[in-house]
Amino acid sequence: MPVSMKLPRRTLLVLCGPAGSGKSTFAARYFSAIPTMVVSSDYCRAMICDDPTNQQVNRDTFDVFHYIIRKRLFNGRFTVADSTALHAEARRKLWELAFHFGYLKCLVVFNVSLATCLERDRLRERQVGSQVIEYHIRLLQKALQEIPAEQWDRVYVLNEDDMEATIEIDP
Ligand code: GDP
Ligand code: MG
Repeated sequence: MPVSMKLPRRTLLVLCGPAGSGKSTFAARYFSAIPTMVVSSDYCRAMICDDPTNQQVNRDTFDVFHYIIRKRLFNGRFTVADSTALHAEARRKLWELAFHFGYLKCLVVFNVSLATCLERDRLRERQVGSQVIEYHIRLLQKALQEIPAEQWDRVYVLNEDDMEATIEIDP
């Protein structure tokens, strides 16, 4: 049964999941009509250092990521935040941005197994590697416990055997 999301225009849709769980694929699939709706931390990383995997520039990457999101929310645009958002602190920052602008705070969790993330990682051009993905899976388990207390307006948990969704954005 596909998840059905009916969302107001003033929504911040925060994707949350390990590397290789399919966040960017999901974003590209459902927001292809207006790809600029999707703000990707990997793209922000690439914009400042030409390498979407460079972990040495995290602080600047997330400055840019949050800055673009803030400007979009200021302008009333529907926005998808594509980053792992596995740390409570990362989710809190996005939650607060949405709160500040009176946006609906939505979280989409990609509940995908280690084996599947590793398999998908192996198939892609730039690989994140098993150590990082194993760490991400541990963070995902922790996140799944923490999220109920975080006061998101809506939480959608997508399981790997059913990543289908219908997404409707109010005009
Ligand atoms: P992200 O790291 O969470 O953004 O994951 P990506 O969206 O980049 O996906 C990682 C890899 O898994 C890519 O090569 C995708 O083509 C593949 N992938 C993503 N979603 C699916 C899916 O639902 N099924 C399959 N078979 N592969 C997927
Ligand atoms: Mg991605």
